[in-house]
Amino acid sequence: MKQLVLIGYPLGHSLSPVMHSAALKAMNLDSKYRYDSKPTLDHELQACVESVKEGLLEGANITIPYKTDIMDYLGVISEEATVLGSVNTLYRVDDCVAGCNTDVSGFLESLREHAVSLKGLNTTILGAGGAARAVAFALLKEGITQLDILNRTLSKAENLVRRLNPKGTCEVHAGTLDTTTVDLSETDLLINCTPIGMKGHSVTESPLRNNIMHSGMVVMDLVYNPQNTTLLRKAEQAGAKTIDGTGMLIHQGAAALEIWVGKKPPIEVMRNAVVQALGG
Ligand code: NAP
Repeated sequence: MKQLVLIGYPLGHSLSPVMHSAALKAMNLDSKYRYDSKPTLDHELQACVESVKEGLLEGANITIPYKTDIMDYLGVISEEATVLGSVNTLYRVDDCVAGCNTDVSGFLESLREHAVSLKGLNTTILGAGGAARAVAFALLKEGITQLDILNRTLSKAENLVRRLNPKGTCEVHAGTLDTTTVDLSETDLLINCTPIGMKGHSVTESPLRNNIMHSGMVVMDLVYNPQNTTLLRKAEQAGAKTIDGTGMLIHQGAAALEIWVGKKPPIEVMRNAVVQALGG
């Protein structure tokens, strides 16, 4: 049996094992591959990478808090993951361990599913953490016109703008996530990359206190538990088109699974497994 694992700490909340196990079963690969959570302490990270190198593990997903720390132990890192400073997938290449990041493609695939074309859009991101970094990188790659990064801690939004090093005609600004001053009148696409609205964190809250969303915009929430967050309900009330976080979760997972097993995973099977696990 080839073992795939999710490495992070803590891992109780993760839907990855349910999603990947459903896909492996539907692909008739469940007698060949197994996917499990592996709660890992930081001093165990190097040993996990060694296990992939030696073939004891076939591959791994990396989640919070190790997406950056794991990079110290890898032989090869994809260009995208290097720019992001974040790896979420490990696999073996010859006799070394490679790392890449499937969050960018997962985010873009989720937007494509909803027929959102990014070229020329004015976009606003709430948050400036790891997920915001992947989303900002993806947006710039796809030719948006404007990007506003609004964060509770302004210096982190400013650091992200510097890291993105925007070139070309796209305007990129950093600002504070101050609900009294946020103006979304020119925003075509808003993406919440904070955990506000997440079960166990702040499920009844929205990152935007007053309803400043409008019917001309698309609102995406990376929070996927619950699927229908307070932000998305408010956006619906304002007439905006909404996209929940399950699509990105599924597509980043599918991209990793394809690397490990060499076949396109069944997206709808993965989606059903996730929705069911969320109680939908
Ligand atoms: P992270 O690196 O810890 O960043 C968290 C961001 O949220 C920071 O910008 C932080 O602001 C902000 N924030 C946290 N609590 C806040 C609060 N109470 N009020 C205002 N701002 C707050 O986390 P991450 O990895 O980027 O993940 C962010 C969210 O995206 C999580 O809910 C995660 O589950 C979700 N996510 C979903 C997917 C998916 O596939 N759907 C993928 C990745 C992440 P400061 O800088 O001020 O601390």
